[in-house]
Amino acid sequence: MTKARKALDKYRRVVIKIGSALLVDRKTGLKKSWLDAMCADIAALRAKGVEVLVVSSGAIALGRTVLDLSAGALKLEESQAAAAVGQIVLARAWSESLSTHAIVAGQILLTLGDTEERRRYLNARATIGQLLRLGSVPIINENDTVATTEIRYGDNDRLAARVATMVGADLLVLLSDIDGLYTGPPHLDPNARLLETVAEITPDIEAMAGGAASELSRGGMRTKIDAGKIATTAGCAMIIASGKPEHPLAAVEAGGRSSWFAPAGSPVTARKTWIAGQLLPAGSLSIDAGAETALRSGKSLLPAGVRQVTGSFGRGDTIAIIGASGREIARGLAGYDAEEARQIAGKKSAEIAVILGYAGRAAMVHRDDLVMTAPSGGRLAEESDEGKGKLHA
Ligand code: GLU
Repeated sequence: MTKARKALDKYRRVVIKIGSALLVDRKTGLKKSWLDAMCADIAALRAKGVEVLVVSSGAIALGRTVLDLSAGALKLEESQAAAAVGQIVLARAWSESLSTHAIVAGQILLTLGDTEERRRYLNARATIGQLLRLGSVPIINENDTVATTEIRYGDNDRLAARVATMVGADLLVLLSDIDGLYTGPPHLDPNARLLETVAEITPDIEAMAGGAASELSRGGMRTKIDAGKIATTAGCAMIIASGKPEHPLAAVEAGGRSSWFAPAGSPVTARKTWIAGQLLPAGSLSIDAGAETALRSGKSLLPAGVRQVTGSFGRGDTIAIIGASGREIARGLAGYDAEEARQIAGKKSAEIAVILGYAGRAAMVHRDDLVMTAPSGGRLAEESDEGKGKLHA
């Protein structure tokens, strides 16, 4: 059963995320033979009719090797300069290696705004779609040269998940130096077990993700689980596997160690996929238990169930919805701006007209604009943006 799920040629469109440490050696630079083997795997998948997109890290790691920058954390402007140098080398390496299989590579560099603003999101999606139609393999990375702390993903795990949902991929493969999700930290806990299959990302599963990150890779298990939430909610399966062996995709198919995350049963609509994957909600609404029950049964969020309004947001902005336990349970588009929301929070719908001086809409967040992001329980609200803007490399 699990084996069938890991048969990559059963998928239609696959996004493969490759961590920096796989592609770059701090001393010698690009690991060419690994890259060539990877491209052979990609060519084999494409020959079976699978569309492939690559999210490749390594620009900063490569650039710092070329520029001979010291070990340890880089300042933002050093990372940006390293990325500028490294991205050229990286893209050329992919292009050359894929061309030996008669595959044309196309480079796409994205910033957070390209996935978080709907107009730019649709534009980026259209370009990637066109590349795929032309038979090209998109090689995607964050545009680290211009991304500042505030507006950057900082890790390619979540970027890859956003790309996967953007293009309607049915599988996201995260290749790094970690071969899957363990029940505990494998280097500390001798009883830690690798989970072959994760049916749903519950709070227990989230608790298993530590925060580890090596010098070359930004994302630890935490960002991989965040990626899993973005992907699986949108109906895209995810595999975490080690990229260390040469031909890592072939290794997954041959039954090598990996964790497979099931896609959500009913994929949400494209609009809801976009809402659920937003990384920077403009604010949040804390709701009571009654409203939480109503939301879980597919109803809209009414002002009466809102206990607290946080942040400053305008109507139509994405906001997080915090359940009675203090954990985020949903995301949605605000029906009111923050100031109005504060005035009508806790009030009956009939009172809205009197308070606001006009007959507003009944729902604070309409059910068509609302998507549950956590099963019962959910994750801690303050964790939801974790990892954003971190600079490790
Ligand atoms: N975008 C970064 C780079 O190419 C990598 C981010 C990550 O390691 O996740 O260097």
